Amino acid sequence: MRIDIITCLPRLLESPFNDSILKRAQAKGLVTVAVHDLRAYATNKHRTTDDYAFGGGAGMVMMIEPIDRCIESLKAQRTYDEVIYMSPDGELLTQSMANELSLKGNLIMLCGHYKGVDERVREHLVTREVSIGDYVLSGGELAAAVLSDAIIRLLPGVLSDETSALTDSFQDGLVAPPVYTRPAEYRGWKVPEVLLSGHQQNIEQWKLEKAIERTKSRRPGLFPQENS
Ligand code: SAH
Repeated sequence: MRIDIITCLPRLLESPFNDSILKRAQAKGLVTVAVHDLRAYATNKHRTTDDYAFGGGAGMVMMIEPIDRCIESLKAQRTYDEVIYMSPDGELLTQSMANELSLKGNLIMLCGHYKGVDERVREHLVTREVSIGDYVLSGGELAAAVLSDAIIRLLPGVLSDETSALTDSFQDGLVAPPVYTRPAEYRGWKVPEVLLSGHQQNIEQWKLEKAIERTKSRRPGLFPQENS
């Protein structure tokens, strides 16, 4: 898989991809993440990528031309499955969306800034718009990093324990059960007995019960039958 991220602030994306799981995934050749500085595609002499909004109003707008030139140059090199614009009013990121996108080959993620991008970018150059939640960030970079992380950790071979991603919250329509590690007792706070019992069937049963209990109390919407 390949993810190309277009941004006017490439440095914001340095650290998320240079540590831990995302770094290892790239080192193992399971994913390529390429960050593109929009300024390199600017056409004016000051290399600006934003301008005042037509009609006035506070805040700058990202210009279409550098974005178009950048996307064009990427598309000249390979075919993309989606050109995603990170946007607070986009489709809400969910686990099932991450699952779906993890099956794609090449993705472009476009990060907005200021007031966002010229609307014509959204109308003509973008195939999909994704939001990471109903709140406004100052730029799309952190959102693109979140989306990339959610996707990359699902790629086969990225997580060392193959079953790990499958047992995370949302994968089976349930949130994850509680987890514990040593010591078995700390300040009198004990780990549930069953987890120490060594009885695998009871342990699995307990985990399922806890997952159901938690989902009902924390994410009742994940139970479709209770929504209707
Ligand atoms: N004026 C816009 C907000 C622009 S925020 C509005 O009111 O909708 C600047 C940029 O940050 C956006 O272009 C987008 O790329 C990114 N961004 C902000 N919040 C986001 C969110 N919740 N999810 C994804 N991207 C977001």
